[in-house]
Amino acid sequence: MNIQMIIKMLTDAGIEEWEAKKEVKMLLEHFCNYTEKDEILGHPLTEEHLNIVKTKVEARLADRTPVQYIIGESYFMGEFFKVTHDVLIPRQETELLVTKAIEIIKENNLKQILDIGTGSGCIACTIAKRTNATVLGVDISSDALRIALDNVTRLGINNRAVFRKSDLFSKIRAEEKFDMIISNPPYIPVGTVLEPELKHEPSIALFAEEDGLELYRKIVFQAPDYLNKEGWLIFEIGIGESEAVKSFMNEYFKNVAVIKDLAGIDRVIWGQLM
Ligand code: GLN
Repeated sequence: MNIQMIIKMLTDAGIEEWEAKKEVKMLLEHFCNYTEKDEILGHPLTEEHLNIVKTKVEARLADRTPVQYIIGESYFMGEFFKVTHDVLIPRQETELLVTKAIEIIKENNLKQILDIGTGSGCIACTIAKRTNATVLGVDISSDALRIALDNVTRLGINNRAVFRKSDLFSKIRAEEKFDMIISNPPYIPVGTVLEPELKHEPSIALFAEEDGLELYRKIVFQAPDYLNKEGWLIFEIGIGESEAVKSFMNEYFKNVAVIKDLAGIDRVIWGQLM
């Protein structure tokens, strides 16, 4: 057996080659401590390494579990975040959201940030780590919050990213005000048929009513009550949703702008309270 044969197990199952290679690399790194550096230096893979990776690939393919859940970690903006089936696996698109948010936070010296639907806490933790702001992450799921708490402890920023169980704004007090509200809410229209890997992710983190727009509508219309003067609202959005979300935001927010992801899809939208 060699590594090509293991990659082929994945591609034969319909996984694209670049993805298959990435997954094998992740498995080697996590379970065998065999990194890219070892590869560059020409260190040989042992039979034991190959057997370990093969077993993990078999588990991956048995029920199409995403490789990040098998590893129990996912890479996001320079850090490894703990993930379980209770949280969404952080996506590359979300790096665009967080990068834009950090730019706005730094330019405007924003201090208090609210992350709605924090899940693994990847957004809250990254902002707290890379800016001077303090972040409150809220989620309706206690199971997700447990993971977010593990992640903030791992990153050693417990005092700067804090978490609370709250259904959107339900447990935010009227006197609590934020300079920015950020969210990557569930946005896939209920009923959409998805690839089998997504069945392993919490459906509460993926799907929304109203053609995927429910959470945007709810957050946009409540956000003004919890924002400081000229506070910012920034979202990740799903494919084809930018016009609808823009029309919600235009009611209360000015300078509403959108940026596209690498695939050319409108992906991040933000604006400032009028
Ligand atoms: N905030 C988390 C993330 O961006 C979870 C988002 C969600 O569950 N919809 O990955």
